Amino acid sequence: MDLTLSEEQEAVRKLAEDFVAREVAPHAVAWDRAENVDKSIVKKLGDLGFLGLTVPEEYGGSGGDHLSYCLVTEELGRGDSSVRGIVSVSLGLVAKTVASWGSEEQKRQWLPRLTAGEAIGCFGLTEPGTGSDAGNLATRAVHDGGDYVVNGTKMFITNGTWADVVLLFARTNDAPGHRGVSAFLVPTDTPGLTRRTIHGKLGLRGQATAELVLQDVRIPAGALLGPEGKGFSIAMSALAKGRMSVAAGCVGIAQAALDAAVRYAGEREQFGKAIARHQLVQELLSDIAVDVDAARLLTWRVADLIDRGQEFATAASKAKLYASEAAVRCANNALQVFGGYGYIDEYPVGKLLRDARVMTLYEGTSQIQKLIIGRALTGVSAF
Ligand code: FAD
Repeated sequence: MDLTLSEEQEAVRKLAEDFVAREVAPHAVAWDRAENVDKSIVKKLGDLGFLGLTVPEEYGGSGGDHLSYCLVTEELGRGDSSVRGIVSVSLGLVAKTVASWGSEEQKRQWLPRLTAGEAIGCFGLTEPGTGSDAGNLATRAVHDGGDYVVNGTKMFITNGTWADVVLLFARTNDAPGHRGVSAFLVPTDTPGLTRRTIHGKLGLRGQATAELVLQDVRIPAGALLGPEGKGFSIAMSALAKGRMSVAAGCVGIAQAALDAAVRYAGEREQFGKAIARHQLVQELLSDIAVDVDAARLLTWRVADLIDRGQEFATAASKAKLYASEAAVRCANNALQVFGGYGYIDEYPVGKLLRDARVMTLYEGTSQIQKLIIGRALTGVSAF
C-alpha cells in the first residue's frame, strides 16, 4: 500500500495550505466572535477550483480525485471549520449531487456558477420535527397544473441565508408505506421562501445557518432533480459521500489541535521546565497524534474506494464516526495541554473543541452511524 501523494495531489494540498495561511487563519477568531465569515471568501474558494473538485471540467469543475478533495477539506478544516463547511455543503452535498442526478439543463444552469463560487448551494433535508428520521419529513410538494406548490419548514440549514439555490427534499406521495420523497432545485429568491439566521451556536459560529420557511412556493416541474419519489435515495447517497468530507474536516481539526498543543508544550514552562518534558503531557500529545493518524487513514480509504468505483457507504460511516469523535477528543486533550489559556479564545483550541462538537451530530449523529455500520454487519435494521 503506497500512501505517497502524487505530485498533483501534493500541489493541490499546498495550494490549500497557503490559501488557509493567507486568507483564513488570520481572520478565524474575528469571524467566530462576529458570528460571520466574510462572504467574499466564497469567490476566492471558487477561483482556486476548491468548489469544483471532482466535478467534470465541462461543467466548470476542476476535476481531480477524491483524495485531493479530502486534502483540501482537511486544510480548510485546519484553518476554520466554518469555511470548510461552506465547501462541504455547496460542493459536497449540492454540486456533486447535481452532477450525479441533474438533467443536462440543470447541470448547465447551476454547476458553472456553483463551482466558480458565483452561486452558493444549501441542502434542505432536516426539519423541526425530523432530524435523524429524515425520511419521515413533512414538507409537501403538491402537483398544481404543470407546477409543484411547496409548503414546509427546514431547520439548521448550513449556508442557508447565503445560498442562491436550495436542494430541497419534500414529500410528493403520501400513500401508506411509500417513502414518496422527491428532490428539487429551488432558487432561494422564489416568492414564498423566507430565511432566518440561527444565532447562538456553540461552534461553527461564522457559518450562515438558517431556518427556511416555504409558504405556497410555486416551482416548475423542471425543478425536480432525478425521478419523482427518488429523493430519499438521492439524499442518502449525497450524505454518504458528504460523510467523507466531514471526516476530512475533522482530521483538519485534530491536526490543528496537535500542532497547537505540541508548540505550546514546548514554550510553556512549569516546575522549572517546558511542560513537554512532563510525561503526562506527552501522554496527551501522543493520544492526539494516534487519533490524527487513525482518522486520516480511515478517511483516505473512503476516497480510495470512491475513486476505484467500489462500495464506500459503510466505510464513510466508519470514517465519519471515528474522525468526529476523535476531533472532539483531540481538541479536548489539546485544551488540557493549554491549561487555563485553552479556555479563552485568544488561543485556538477552545474554538477547535466547539467546532468539533457538531461533527458528531450532523450528517447523521454518531448513534446513526453506528446503526448504519450495525446494519451492514448483521443485515438487520435497528433504526
Ligand atoms: P434527533 O434526531 O432528534 O436526535 C436526538 C438524539 O437522539 C441524538 O443523540 C440521536 O443520535 C438520538 N437518536 C435519534 N434516533 C435514534 C435511533 N434510532 N437510535 C439511537 N439514537 C437515536 N441538516 C440539513 O438538512 N442540512 C444542513 O445543511 C444541516 N446543517 C447543520 C448545521 C448545524 C450547525 C447543525 C447543528 C445541524 C445541521 N443539520 C443540517 C441538521 C443535522 O443533520 C441534524 O441536527 C441531525 O441529523 C440530528 O437531528 P436532530 O438534531 O433532529 O436530532
